Amino acid sequence: MEYLKQNIQQIKSKIKAAAERSGRNWEDIHLVAVTKNFSAEVVQAAVDCGIVLLGENRVQEAKSKIELVKGDVKWHLIGHLQRNKVKTAIGMFSMIQSLDSFRLAEEIQKRAEQAERVVDVLVQVNIGREITKYGIDPDNTESFIEKVSSFPNIKIRGLMAIAPFKENPEDVRSYFRHLYNIFESLKQKSIRNVNMEYLSMGMSHDFEVAIEEGANMVRIGTGIFGTRQ
Ligand SMILES: *Cc1c(COP(=O)(O)O)cnc(C)c1O
Repeated sequence: MEYLKQNIQQIKSKIKAAAERSGRNWEDIHLVAVTKNFSAEVVQAAVDCGIVLLGENRVQEAKSKIELVKGDVKWHLIGHLQRNKVKTAIGMFSMIQSLDSFRLAEEIQKRAEQAERVVDVLVQVNIGREITKYGIDPDNTESFIEKVSSFPNIKIRGLMAIAPFKENPEDVRSYFRHLYNIFESLKQKSIRNVNMEYLSMGMSHDFEVAIEEGANMVRIGTGIFGTRQ
């Protein structure tokens, strides 16, 4: 699977260039390879090329891959999580990037407490206020985080967003900038039990703009694995 090696190298060099344009080090940008619709075999090949962070949208689909893929890797849940799957999910993922409602936070708190764990999460923000997308309204993000910060078994470690799809990635720059501003303002507030470390934004077609606007985690599927069936 020579193409994987080439794709990963190409993505990494674009990450590096974008990081430099924004005055940062490429080592500060975390690359999450998004594995949905790709087999454990293909994922393993990517891991063998040096990928260490893997993102999956669905608990069920992730299960067999997590069992099969070998190596020092971490799995992040990046898709909407149903409350009846929380118990399974917290046993499988090192981070839930898609905390998108208070009821989900309550369920994560309950299950994490039972498992005697602290679960790392990112708060998903619906930065484009799209009815088709999950996430907290940008204006409510701070109050949401303040509420969730009282849960001892949940550790908020940053924000995640999916920008609206635009043909030209320049057209989503303002959304990324908005999220970065929210991220920075939350960081300044130093809310107890909250660590604003990760700003997860940018996918295959818009990650360079996202990095220029301050992303330090990008989630790339197509750009690494190719077009999904
Ligand atoms: C599928 C997906 C990605 C990756 O999308 P690509 O366009 O294939 O890079 C990133 N984030 C989320 C939440 C996704 O569902």
